Amino acid sequence: MDDMDAIDKVASPFSPFVGPIEPITESDDEIRAMLEEAEIPPLLPALAYLTGDLSLLRDDLRPDALMLAMPQAGLTDEQLATARELALDAIIRFRDSGSQPAAPPSDDVLLKLMEYAVGGSDMAAYLPLLEEELAILGEDRRAPDWSWTAGDFKVAIIGAGMSGLLVAHRLRQADVPFVILEKNADVGGTWYENSYPGCRVDNPNHNYSYSFAQRHDWPFHFSTQDVLLDYFQHCADAFHLRDSIRFETEVLSATWDEDSATWTVRVRNPDGREEDLVANAVVSAVGQLNQPSLPDIPGRDTFAGPTFHSARWNHDLDLRGKRVAVIGTGASAVQFIPEIAALPSELLVFQRTPPWFGPTPDYHDEVSPGQKWLYGHVPSYSEWNRFWIFWRMGDGALEAVRVDPEWEPKGASVSMTNEFARVMLGEYIKMEFADRPDLLEHALPTYPVGSKRMLRDNGVWASALKRENVQLVCDPIREITPTGIEMQDGTAHDVDVIIYGTGFKASKFLTPMTVTGRGGLDLHEHWNGDARAYLGVNIPSFPNLFCLYGPNTNIVVNGSIVYFSECGVRYILGCLKLLSDTKHRALDIRKDVHDEFNEKVDAENKLMAWGWSDVNSWYKNEYGRVAQNWPFTLLEYWQRTLAPNPDEYELID
Ligand code: NAP
Repeated sequence: MDDMDAIDKVASPFSPFVGPIEPITESDDEIRAMLEEAEIPPLLPALAYLTGDLSLLRDDLRPDALMLAMPQAGLTDEQLATARELALDAIIRFRDSGSQPAAPPSDDVLLKLMEYAVGGSDMAAYLPLLEEELAILGEDRRAPDWSWTAGDFKVAIIGAGMSGLLVAHRLRQADVPFVILEKNADVGGTWYENSYPGCRVDNPNHNYSYSFAQRHDWPFHFSTQDVLLDYFQHCADAFHLRDSIRFETEVLSATWDEDSATWTVRVRNPDGREEDLVANAVVSAVGQLNQPSLPDIPGRDTFAGPTFHSARWNHDLDLRGKRVAVIGTGASAVQFIPEIAALPSELLVFQRTPPWFGPTPDYHDEVSPGQKWLYGHVPSYSEWNRFWIFWRMGDGALEAVRVDPEWEPKGASVSMTNEFARVMLGEYIKMEFADRPDLLEHALPTYPVGSKRMLRDNGVWASALKRENVQLVCDPIREITPTGIEMQDGTAHDVDVIIYGTGFKASKFLTPMTVTGRGGLDLHEHWNGDARAYLGVNIPSFPNLFCLYGPNTNIVVNGSIVYFSECGVRYILGCLKLLSDTKHRALDIRKDVHDEFNEKVDAENKLMAWGWSDVNSWYKNEYGRVAQNWPFTLLEYWQRTLAPNPDEYELID
């Protein structure tokens, strides 16, 4: 079993990230000042939870579910002032009575608190999921409650990014030996590779972080790449994973051996030497967005100057005073263009399709001192705030991007609520470019909201494009020449540098490695560019191969990908538990189960804006099939990944 035998199986006690809640020693006036910066909707339920005083849940202060997207859920200044006074009174009482939290409430009361926080009703189906997400005592509700008992078994994990670290941590908790094979020199995955200027998470930190490894002290609402990288590095240390990671080790192939029911994983070591490792199971945690995509524009290789992709930023190249072209206006480009716009003498932005933006005034803001104080002094407030973010960004948003078959005319929108979103978001763009009709003409998308990923903006996009040294070029590109970029109409733009913000080969799952399953079946030949899996995890004829962030597990408008990985990891651990319990060596998803599942996914994806619209997007593969996105609710993925159904698998002796 080569050197994988050496992997230690020491269970790692989880080091909580959440620091201790400090006792409240501040004066009444100091607390009042902190409350000016509070996010009010989660505060009253948090205080009701903390003190047991349900009279805090006043009907006249209850958020309106339709207003959740608005700052403070659209509560009026008067409502906010009243809520702050109530909160102040509750915090003072809590302080003066010795800061002792009330006993945890019953499920009925908890449900009431949750429904109050988001102005919801009939949320009972979500209660178990939300209790897990809330993790209100800092507990880890998704930790496996079993240990491997079936003799020798080793797992090879490919990738030490967000998903790889997570599955490793869970395997350690279940006493399953593993090794992580990581091509980079450190952990972090996408947060290690993407270091372009302005790179930051566009999902609030409190949501984009492990449910069981929360921080009260995120510096930003949407932290920068260095903060996220630091978080995942800290996780690797806190989970004691580093000794089990082989860095700068690239997986070249994985081959299933029927007789031994093992995978042979060929790796290239840091010294270039190739080596075969043997594992009983393989978890691919390579992400969907890790293979940069360079556009198929004629002459691309003829350009004489420096070029690079956003995910391979050339930090040694000084852009000052140069003529720079950026191709692409997706999530990456929209983050780095405002950061670099002042540097070049000329910045040409080549846009094919304009993005929709969600106005996010606090996108670049630090978390305010008052809000931080509340996280660190009011028990459960941080968790309730996370719940508030989770729900606001949750399943409710799906309705706005679901196709209404009766809606006419389709084109710019797919339903009444989608039309409403189009008008609202359009108003934002019109406002941003009000003084530049020449830019506005090209900035307003004509495709439905939700067909492509919506980006965040706090005004920096329009400011960057309006700069005197910046030009937005929207005509079709004909070719790249040694000196620049030529358009279809013959216009030539000479530039010194070309930066590609052209995204990733998202549909090329598990490339460039070769994966060979039962009967010598080659995964990429089998998929033929149309990757599919069961729940994004299992592929028929590839026993004990598990994918994280696999086909059809990306989300467009609802939730965080960390949530999906937590669900997927629990499912994988459930599959391993099944093997441990039944003493089988491997499991293989039944093809009919897989196919039926995929039919349902495809049918549903066609009813979503991203499946219905024919706008360019990385959500579709070369056949036009949506191979990336999960079209159902977050709740459904949670329910379906609680545990595998043994009947859906062939169990291999
Ligand atoms: P992307 O969204 O796929 O954007 C690629 C851009 O390049 C698009 O504007 C695209 O135009 C353009 N493009 C591609 N090929 C082209 C060609 N041949 N000619 C002209 N233009 C071309 O890629 P991305 O911006 O790297 O983002 C990918 C995903 O990564 C995001 O959707 C998001 O999920 C993730 N991401 C997240 C964050 C974050 O959380 N902070 C940041 C960055 C990325 P079309 O639109 O016309 O195709």
